[in-house]
Amino acid sequence: MSNTIRKRIVSAGLFLVMSLGLLNGCSLTQNSSEQTTSTGTTASAAASAGTTATTDAMVTADAVSNEEMKTPKYIFLFIGDGMSYVQTNAAQVYLGNNTEGEIATESLNFTQFPVIGNVTTYDSTSFCPDSASTATALSCGVKTHSGVVGLEADKMTQPESITELLKQEGMKIGVVSTVTINHATPAAFYSHVISRNDYYQIAMQMATSDVDYFGGGSVNKSTGSDKSYTDAYSIIENKGYTIADTNEEILALGSSSGKCYALSPVLQDSGSIPYAIDAGADDLTFADYVSTGIEVLDNDNGFFMMCESGKIDWACHANDAMTTIQEVIDFSDGIQCAIDFAAEHPDETLILVTGDHETGGMTIGYASTGYDTAFDLLGKQTMSYVAFDELVVEMKEANPDVTLADFLPVIKDTFGLIAPSDPDAAVEANADYVMTEYEYEKLENAFAESMLPEEERSETEETSVLYGGYDPISVTLTHIINNKAGIGWTSYSHTGTPVAFYAMGASAELFAGTYDNTDVFYKMLEAAGCTAEATTAA
Ligand SMILES: [Zn+2]
Repeated sequence: MSNTIRKRIVSAGLFLVMSLGLLNGCSLTQNSSEQTTSTGTTASAAASAGTTATTDAMVTADAVSNEEMKTPKYIFLFIGDGMSYVQTNAAQVYLGNNTEGEIATESLNFTQFPVIGNVTTYDSTSFCPDSASTATALSCGVKTHSGVVGLEADKMTQPESITELLKQEGMKIGVVSTVTINHATPAAFYSHVISRNDYYQIAMQMATSDVDYFGGGSVNKSTGSDKSYTDAYSIIENKGYTIADTNEEILALGSSSGKCYALSPVLQDSGSIPYAIDAGADDLTFADYVSTGIEVLDNDNGFFMMCESGKIDWACHANDAMTTIQEVIDFSDGIQCAIDFAAEHPDETLILVTGDHETGGMTIGYASTGYDTAFDLLGKQTMSYVAFDELVVEMKEANPDVTLADFLPVIKDTFGLIAPSDPDAAVEANADYVMTEYEYEKLENAFAESMLPEEERSETEETSVLYGGYDPISVTLTHIINNKAGIGWTSYSHTGTPVAFYAMGASAELFAGTYDNTDVFYKMLEAAGCTAEATTAA
C-alpha cells in the first residue's frame, strides 16, 4: 500500500477511531504505517485500498455478538527464527520420503492452517535483515536498523509493543524462546534497546517488564559483559518473578504461580535449550515451555504468548539440514499445544505462525544432484553440528596427533558417510553414503584446516565460503550429506527471501495475502479489537 493511500485511510478513519475509542479499549498513539479500525465504514475504505480486512471483523462490539466478531481472547504468535518456505518444506519432504519411500510430503500441522500470507522481511538498512529489526517489525510495527530492538529507525523513538498494548487491556503476556530469553527475538517483545548486544540492559528490562511468563533458555551475560554487575537472575527474582529451573518445578507451574520464568535445567550452546536432535529423553522441549505457558497464562481476560524456536536459525547459519528439519518438527510439536488449546476454546483463539527472515539460502535441489533428491540419506545423522563439534574437541584433546583415519568411524556413526577406502564402501546397500573422491578431498582439506589452532587457520575468500567460520570438519560433513540429499545452501547469513504466514482461528482472515512484516503488528492489534491511531505514515 502506498503512503498516500495509508494517509488517506488514516484521515478517513480518525474521527471514527476517536469516537469509538471507548468501545475498543486500547489505542496506539505513535507513528505507524497502517491504520486499522473496527468500523464498517473504514472497512470498506480499507477493502478498496487493497487490505485483507473484512467487514465481519470490523463491526463494533455492541453491534454483533462476540462470536460473529471473532475477537480472539487467546493469541499465540509462533516465530520460527530463520524459517521460510524451504525450511518448512524440507521437514515435510523428509517426513514424507522417510515414511512413504516415494515422492510424497507429510504436512506439518501449521501448513494446513486455513489462512496463508506472504510477508516481506527487509529492514531499514538491508534486504537481508537481522532478528532484532524483524522482531521489532512484528512486535512494534516499525522498520528499524539491523541490531536495534524495539526502537524506530532514529534509534530513539520508543514505540509501544503489541505486548505492552495488550497488557494494558488486561491480557496476560508470555514470552518463550528456545535460545536465550534476552536474545533479539524475545527481547523485542518486552524491551527497547539500541543494540541487541546490550544483553544486560535487556535482562534489566526483562526484570521490570509486565510479562507474566518467560520460558526457555537462560539469560545471556547475566552479570554483564565484564561479569561485574549484580546477577540478573537475582534482580529478576527481586522484581517478583519465581524462577523454576528443574523439570518438577517447571511442570508444576500454573495459573496461581504469579509471574514466573521457566528456565531450562539443561543448556546447550550459548545458553539455549538443546537441539531436538540432541535432546535427552528427560529434557523439556519447546512444547513443554508452550504448554506450561498456557497453564500459567490462562485467565478470564485472555493472553498473548509469543513463542520462538530460535535454533532453526542457528542450524541454518551452520548449514545443517537434518538439525534444521528436526527443529522445525519440534516447532510444530509446540504449535500442536496451541491447536489443542484452540479445540477447547473455539472462536476465542487465534494462532499465528511465521518466520522472521530466511537463513542460509537453503534450497531443495543441488548442482550435482540435478533433478534428484534423497532426503532419506539424512536419517543417519544422529547429532547436530554443535554436538559433533564437541566430539571433535574431545578427540583432539585426547590425542593431539589424531588423524582423519581416527575420525572416519565416528563420521560413519554420526553422519552415515563412508570413506571410499572403507571396506563397507563396496557393499551395494551403502552406495549412496560413500563419499566421492571430490567429497573426500574436501573432507581431507577441512580436517587439515580444523587441526590448525584457530588463529593459524587461513582467512581467505575460499575458506570463508567453504566454512563460514564454523569448524571446517562439521560444516564440510553437513555440506556433503546435505548435497547428496539434494539440499543446497548459498549463505551462512540471513537472506532476503520472504516468509510465509499461517493463521487459524478467530480473525485469522486478517492475515491472508501479501504484506510487510510491519503490517503483522497492526493486523494483530485489529484482531484483538484494538485501534491504531496513526499520526503519520511511516
Ligand atoms: Zn532471526
